[in-house]
Amino acid sequence: MTTTSSATDAAIEHHLDETRDARIESLKELLRIPSISSLPEHAEDCRATAEWIAADLRRVGIENVAVEETIGNPVVYGDWLHADGAPTVLVYCHYDVQPVDPLDLWDSPPFEPVVVGGNMLARGAADDKGQIHLHLRALEALFTIRGSLPVNVRFVFEGNEESTALPLEGWLETHRERLDADFVVISDTGFFEGNLPAITISLRGMMYAQIDVIGSDLDLHSGSYGGVVDNPANVLTRILTALKGPDGRVLIPGFYDDVVALTDDERSQLDGLPFDEEALRDSIGVPALAGESGFGVLERKGARPTFDINGMWAGFQGTGAKTIIPGHAHAKVSCRLVAAQDPDRVFAALKAFVEEIAPRTVHISVNRIGGGRPHITSVDHPATRAAARALEATFGRAPVYIREGGSIPVCASFAEKLDLPVVLMGFSQPDDHAHAPNEWMDLANYETGIRAVIRMWDEVAALDRASLR
Ligand SMILES: [Zn+2]
Repeated sequence: MTTTSSATDAAIEHHLDETRDARIESLKELLRIPSISSLPEHAEDCRATAEWIAADLRRVGIENVAVEETIGNPVVYGDWLHADGAPTVLVYCHYDVQPVDPLDLWDSPPFEPVVVGGNMLARGAADDKGQIHLHLRALEALFTIRGSLPVNVRFVFEGNEESTALPLEGWLETHRERLDADFVVISDTGFFEGNLPAITISLRGMMYAQIDVIGSDLDLHSGSYGGVVDNPANVLTRILTALKGPDGRVLIPGFYDDVVALTDDERSQLDGLPFDEEALRDSIGVPALAGESGFGVLERKGARPTFDINGMWAGFQGTGAKTIIPGHAHAKVSCRLVAAQDPDRVFAALKAFVEEIAPRTVHISVNRIGGGRPHITSVDHPATRAAARALEATFGRAPVYIREGGSIPVCASFAEKLDLPVVLMGFSQPDDHAHAPNEWMDLANYETGIRAVIRMWDEVAALDRASLR
């Protein structure tokens, strides 16, 4: 473990104490810019946010800072590469935010940040501008007190995370040569229930498809044709039922072939998380939870794949009765995938199975709509362990390891386009209302987060670069 002299730590602490008020004002300034990426009328606000961040990076001492064009909002790039022999970390956050409607559910206007009971209330406070800001303040403290950083850093702050992955993907593709690094830190996640420090070690991937069952060109009279032709809606339900059993097991042949089962250690680690099933059930309002039998809720959500119907339509849906045999029936379906499933292979298996079980009485088509790979970074990766030590030293307890059921597409982009390990170290508290009215950031998390980032860079500086790949 790296030790900076306690005098240095005290100096940094003193600096952070002295600058606290200014820091909160600066955070508010950043949060005031309405950088909503999905609404074209806010494109200039997104650009202004990028410029704000670029100016701040330059001011604290980061070099080669540039606001770079993409097919969407700009990417802010900056680096500092003078820590000879030390690892290079690529840090990613996003400066764009979600839309704010419904406005009447906000306690205060979303772009007029206020501190209420130790929390910063504003759109983007947690997701993700507050997290950009804490990285900037960590840099500022290090440059002010030590005049340098212990590690080499590259920053990629983008402005389309909440709307589309394409601008960043295109930018990464074009600039991959100059993004050489040992690993990536993404600060766009948060802590576990009870505000326990956490590192997200895995995200599920996705395979999305549409199944179309076509009979005749038109709906048919069910008296004249019932018993004579097949019914696409009946056929579709038979197909869908064949894809997943009542025990939650997906029945597509080969579906589980590439699934990496949890080790006993990993399972007991999940079982050890303070998780309240009944509270979850209550918050959703369903009579009972469900899922693949033989696995607990956290394992089902984070480490097991799924098959779900996301939408289906066929035939008559108006009031009263209409006696038809629908001409066609459709379903949108998706699978959440886990390591080491491949969306292409899963789609091919789905398509082959549906075509095999479909009767010859109808036309079937199965088309891919989208998807992405699952992501996992080992708990034992030296960068994960460095993050864990930094969190433990600053938050006073060892982090828990989370397996998220959802996806962060950018994570797969970094892993695939740059072939780099990714550490998901974020600081927002659970229930931060990200994407919802009254988004907030716990300022204690924000403040400790600054210290955790500083300690993380000291920890990383002591790592052997060869051990990181
Ligand atoms: Zn985010």
